[in-house]
Amino acid sequence: YFFDKLAESIKGATDLLSGKSRMTEANTKGALRDIRRALLDADVSKVVVDDLVERVTKNALGGEVTEGVDPSQRGVKIVYDELKRAMGGDDEALMSGGEGEQSVRAELEYREDGKPTVVLLCGLQGAGKTTAAAKLALRLQQEEGRKPLLVAADVYRPAAVEQLKLLGEQVGVPVYAEDFEPGQGNAVAIAERGLKEAQARDDVDVVVVDTAGRQVIEADLMRELRDVRQVTQPDETLLVLDAMTGQAAAGVAKQFDDAVPLTGAVLTKLDGDARGGAALSVRAVCGRPIKYVGVGERVQDLEPFFPARMASRILGMGDVVSLVEKAERLQSKDDAASQMERIVAGKATFDDFLEQTKMMASMGNLQNVAKMMPGMGGLDAGKLSEAEARIKIQESLIMSMTPAERRDPDLVIRSKSALSRQRRIARGAGRDADASRRFVSEFQQMRTMMQKMAAGQNPNAPPGPED
Ligand code: GDP
Repeated sequence: YFFDKLAESIKGATDLLSGKSRMTEANTKGALRDIRRALLDADVSKVVVDDLVERVTKNALGGEVTEGVDPSQRGVKIVYDELKRAMGGDDEALMSGGEGEQSVRAELEYREDGKPTVVLLCGLQGAGKTTAAAKLALRLQQEEGRKPLLVAADVYRPAAVEQLKLLGEQVGVPVYAEDFEPGQGNAVAIAERGLKEAQARDDVDVVVVDTAGRQVIEADLMRELRDVRQVTQPDETLLVLDAMTGQAAAGVAKQFDDAVPLTGAVLTKLDGDARGGAALSVRAVCGRPIKYVGVGERVQDLEPFFPARMASRILGMGDVVSLVEKAERLQSKDDAASQMERIVAGKATFDDFLEQTKMMASMGNLQNVAKMMPGMGGLDAGKLSEAEARIKIQESLIMSMTPAERRDPDLVIRSKSALSRQRRIARGAGRDADASRRFVSEFQQMRTMMQKMAAGQNPNAPPGPED
């Protein structure tokens, strides 16, 4: 795979630490130097490398020793965490689609006011914009149940309009295009009319606008892009970036971001022999996540981008990472006492809840536990397996929350985005919206009850004004 070499070098570097009892400035120096060189060799931009290495250093020297974890393994985990972070893996705005961490990613932001969502694609010529437009339309249609319209607003590259029409036919998506004399096309007017068409049709709910690029960034082109943005008011402005751009990727991302604030990027040609550094640079340079990656020339070769998966792929050492995670979890255990304190005070987080349920599950299934409890042996088996099924559903819902949501339930209970978060969580867990709404409200009821008990009130008293 494209990161093979980087993975190998980082492994070599962290191996330097194996057998050491802990990380010190002296024994990490060589490893850090090697990691730095490996990242630069992979075309990660220099500012990003400096920042990454600095953070790795700080964590390596600052951290505590975890029982059962060798410094080389801890080194791998630290590098993994920082790679993930550099690609946006800890971002609040990221969406989780089940399976926890590994499937946390940035999704497209759709409008909710009934108007079509507008996605504007920009980038240098040859980056793969036109191809990406068709790929994205196909994906939105097939995987996300959307009704896309493609708009051909690349009026500079002579074949671009024809190419998009052909691709549109191939993926079965309508294309808005206009005929014009060479050199006479007006991208802004075409984009505007394309959007009007989309708004008038009831078989369209998302518009993907292809724009012109050149080999280098030129002022008039940027002006045109800004004007297109002005008339289309896009919900998403995605930079299509060739992964083979190498060191230059960071500069390109920065310049486009300055012209038309980007909301994300599509990284193309990751199937080629690109060294992949761009994946690590984009996010750090313009603070926007990669949303999709192109992995081939065919229209179906577009995939969502998952920072955590990408980080494990880069390192190729997922097993070491999960081992260290487990050991760290065991050690911190958040000490059970403070967890209990939070629960009793009515401040339980979803993490606390999950851990409690897991503890119950680890005691054997509920039925067996019940048999051992005085007075519960006779509990109806049907009721018990119903409770077990409910716990499974709750677990899957929590697993599809982002780490931030698990720590701070208010995000899901009462924030401005609570409703859309609940819907997304349900979708990620493969449940209907009702399931997550019900769970969240039960969870909140439990917290309120605990708060009342903590305050010495009768939990069954009618709700006070603060509810
Ligand atoms: P545009 O000028 O930005 O619109 O670029 P195009 O969409 O015409 O793409 C330029 C070339 O890159 C074409 O030959 C595409 O087939 C190719 N291409 C685009 N995306 C990918 C990708 O993900 N992988 C590979 N291997 N080729 C790609």
